[in-house]
Amino acid sequence: MNNTQHKILIITAPSGAGKTSITRHLMHQFSQLAFSVSAATRKPRANEKDGVDYHFMTEEDFKEHIQHNDFVEWEMVYEGKYYGTLKSELQKIWDQHKIPVLDIDVKGAIHVQQQYPHTSLSLFIEPPSVGELKNRLLARGTETEASLQARINKAAYELSFKEHFNKVITNNHLETACQEATEIVSNFMKG
Ligand code: 5GP
Repeated sequence: MNNTQHKILIITAPSGAGKTSITRHLMHQFSQLAFSVSAATRKPRANEKDGVDYHFMTEEDFKEHIQHNDFVEWEMVYEGKYYGTLKSELQKIWDQHKIPVLDIDVKGAIHVQQQYPHTSLSLFIEPPSVGELKNRLLARGTETEASLQARINKAAYELSFKEHFNKVITNNHLETACQEATEIVSNFMKG
């Protein structure tokens, strides 16, 4: 049996903790990893492409997928905005003998982990502090005043869940955090 079959790598963190950079680094390091493209009902940002960053869809379509039991997990991550992992997306990646990488919120990560307790690895990326998180979100410049506050409140809440995950990586320094993640994932893929 191919040892990449049916494994799942879950990467979660409060928004702005550096999760996306670490995820990209891992995708470059390991050709066996494939990004799991989530379904989402928010509007695409300027540089985002449908089917690459997300499967962008209307709330109506998203709810139809919920009715059909098409999701492994889904959450209303932000007020009125739904995000979810499609079962078909995971299957497509497994069919290519690759390991899906799920970049999802903390609650979604806990749900996936509960469904695949023996074949998943969950990484929680911890920002150095909530203050630093705010600086990073400000530097990214994608938030309005209201969405910035919503993300910070959510981050403080999400930090309280860190002990649910297999490994916690504190992102004080991106390069060191990437190295740590590489080593952990390398062991997971061998196992
Ligand atoms: P953004 O709107 O910045 O792209 O993503 C917002 C949050 O939604 C991020 O924390 C991201 O990890 C999370 N997210 C993306 N896809 C999914 C998903 O399929 N399920 C869940 N539960 N969260 C997701």
